[in-house]
Amino acid sequence: MSKTHSMLILPGDGIGPEVMEEVKRVISWLDENRDIKFDISEGHVGGRAYDEYGVSLHDDTLAQAKAVDAVMFGAVGGPKWDGVDYDKRPEAGLLKLRKELNLFANLRPALCFEPLVDASSLKPELVSGLDIMILRELTGGVYFGEPRGIEELGNGQRRGVNTQVYETYEIHRVAHVAFDLARKRSGRVTSVEKANVMESGLLWREEVNVIAKDYSDIKLDHMYADNCAMQLVRTPKQFDVILTDNLFGDMLSDIAAMLTGSLGMLPSASLGEAGKGALYEPVHGSAPDIAGKGIANPIATILSFAMALRYTYDCSDEAALIEDAVNEVLKNDIRTADIMQPGKTQVSTSEMGGHILDALTKLNN
Ligand code: NAD
Repeated sequence: MSKTHSMLILPGDGIGPEVMEEVKRVISWLDENRDIKFDISEGHVGGRAYDEYGVSLHDDTLAQAKAVDAVMFGAVGGPKWDGVDYDKRPEAGLLKLRKELNLFANLRPALCFEPLVDASSLKPELVSGLDIMILRELTGGVYFGEPRGIEELGNGQRRGVNTQVYETYEIHRVAHVAFDLARKRSGRVTSVEKANVMESGLLWREEVNVIAKDYSDIKLDHMYADNCAMQLVRTPKQFDVILTDNLFGDMLSDIAAMLTGSLGMLPSASLGEAGKGALYEPVHGSAPDIAGKGIANPIATILSFAMALRYTYDCSDEAALIEDAVNEVLKNDIRTADIMQPGKTQVSTSEMGGHILDALTKLNN
């Protein structure tokens, strides 16, 4: 008998519900064609939750998120809620979810689909076949370290302070995620910091080396963050898994993502301790400028769902099938407006979803 997987779907605001609709169609397809069963619950988050409950994440929704295997998240925010207090703003709901689920590992793949190599800002030969994974530590480092703040120095001068701080356990747990990921990929990890000028970087390097002893099958290299930024745009295919802290990961993941083209194509995952919380979401926001027009690209959200299949539900074959189906549709010159190129066929959000279902059926036979 097939196992039933639990999932909470939080479509959110703007284009969130539009792109999530296409994920639901993929879920139905898996049920019918691969006998993969999901027990789905659905809730409000962000502006929709604020309108309904006066908060951007209701306690009941949070409890549901903690009880399921994974959360599929659309996007939140929009001009309608710009005047709302900061702690009730749509984006606060997402931050609270990440914190409460203790999602310390943020996975951002940079995967270049062959039909889109021309959309990259780099030469096609540099990105053709590109498949790297940036793993960013998400709950520690300089964004959270104390002391922090802006002080008046009393002489017309002010001082801004932030503290980069990491403890052993924070480095160990994210390093384990990196090595485990590498085992499912090409078996290489590049750990990135600034050990040459920062003690927290030196600790990072030493503690990653400690964990590496448990993974003798994985090749580990260390690289300074500034060099890594340069290497990413010089020869990005040299990397497999890049493991880095919150601050460097913020920047390096944006650089790597843009190697592959459009925001509408970029999935992400945020993971906590094994089996205790996972959230999958597109990198893009709620895109209020195109919401309601039926033209949003659903691929980033569908690929985020594929990541859920791979990393939470242990369904790697189906994850690969979805990625292959996306590639097939792009190969057939089908495009949403954001990735439109001359001579290709432009389709709506639901038409793109339909083409992906057709490709799934074709590849499954
Ligand atoms: P955005 O990602 O929503 O949009 C940036 C641009 O990319 C827009 O022109 C948009 O039309 C386009 N775009 C984004 N996703 C697309 C898709 N799937 N298909 C086609 N085009 C797409 O970023 P923004 O405009 O800076 O922010 C809009 C709102 O989203 C804000 O309220 C912001 O706070 C929120 N936001 C939410 C998240 C999240 O929920 N994780 C992330 C980023 C921004």
